[in-house]
Amino acid sequence: MSGPHRPRRLRRDGLRGLVRETDLRPTDLIAPVFVDATTDERVPIESMPGHERVPVSQAADRVAEVEATGVESVMLFGIPESKDERGTRAWADDGVVQRALRRITAETDVFAITDVCLCEYTEHGHCGVLTDEAHERWDGAASDGGMATTDGRPDLTVDNDATLDLLGKVAESHAAAGADMVAPSSATDGMVGAIRGALDGAGYEDVPIMSYAAKYESAFYGPFRDAADGAPAFGDRRHYQMDPANAREALREVDLDVEEGADVLMVKPALPYLDVVRQVRDHTDYPVAAYNVSGEYAMLHAAAEKGWLDLDAVALESLLSIKRAGADLVLTYFAETIADRL
Ligand SMILES: [Zn+2]
Repeated sequence: MSGPHRPRRLRRDGLRGLVRETDLRPTDLIAPVFVDATTDERVPIESMPGHERVPVSQAADRVAEVEATGVESVMLFGIPESKDERGTRAWADDGVVQRALRRITAETDVFAITDVCLCEYTEHGHCGVLTDEAHERWDGAASDGGMATTDGRPDLTVDNDATLDLLGKVAESHAAAGADMVAPSSATDGMVGAIRGALDGAGYEDVPIMSYAAKYESAFYGPFRDAADGAPAFGDRRHYQMDPANAREALREVDLDVEEGADVLMVKPALPYLDVVRQVRDHTDYPVAAYNVSGEYAMLHAAAEKGWLDLDAVALESLLSIKRAGADLVLTYFAETIADRL
């Protein structure tokens, strides 16, 4: 064979690194940390091997373990000591995330991001205030062993506008406890604007917002619901999370969040939505984050356990693909193990 095109010339050791288009660094990764107010000891999360819920007293130790791998950012999720209809423990000054944050900021240098959400804090597991109709169905579900479901149509469960005020309170309480960035995940229309307003009104103009801008109603969240105990008691989240079939809609969501003041835009999940990550990357100059969710983590672990895949190799390749698709930051359960290898 002759001619000018021999791509193999660039694949030799010593040259590969020089022409590599995408790199993955520990500082690109954000590690999820679960803090649980209902336990005094660490509790392994069965569906997410290697991950645990930790008590507030060990939150700073847990974060120090993350930092030791070279990862400099964490996303904090809280499991409250009690739940109620409105999720009031989500914005309590002595709430689980708020207490953990105070310890973490006092004892570590980590960049602490908080999940701003109500699902884990409400008895019904929906992210916000129920509509009257949903309230009736919830009562029905309680007497029905949780089986009251929709007839297949996405019907309205959460009162969007009544929820905005609560999300503002949650974000403000996180900022007051030391959050470096807040990350609203509730997919409530107008959430970024409401949170920006609440933060600015309380003097937290410098706290950025990473919005879950394109959050899909995905079956890949299953294992997380074990971890955070946030499965809805009835119905589903189809009217507030995006239809997996839609990509153009993601760009409209992104535009809205930018108008409302978002600083970083997230796509969730990551691997089944790499086309969306790429489209968002091409659509905006803002930093793009992707959430490599619990199901993406669990399926690689399960296959590796059977001896079908090399776990570290597929994890690394997955994270590289998410960056190649255009993500600047990757929130991933692989953060610590992969950072150690980089
Ligand atoms: Zn939520």
